[in-house]
Amino acid sequence: MADEKKEKPEKHAEKKPDKKKKFKAYKKLRTCPKCGSSSRLAEHPDRLSCGKCGYMEHKNKA
Ligand SMILES: [Zn+2]
Repeated sequence: MADEKKEKPEKHAEKKPDKKKKFKAYKKLRTCPKCGSSSRLAEHPDRLSCGKCGYMEHKNKA
């Protein structure tokens, strides 16, 4: 009697569940001169701004 067990081709989902998008670590995080070192300036393409006091600083184009 041939009792062949058919191997089921297990399909492993290759999708990795960890969708952790790491925020770009800015090399130099500027801090707000008004709020102090506790408040970092949000980085925008052309400027930095503080979300607390609204301080804005234009970036110097290299
Ligand atoms: Zn501020």
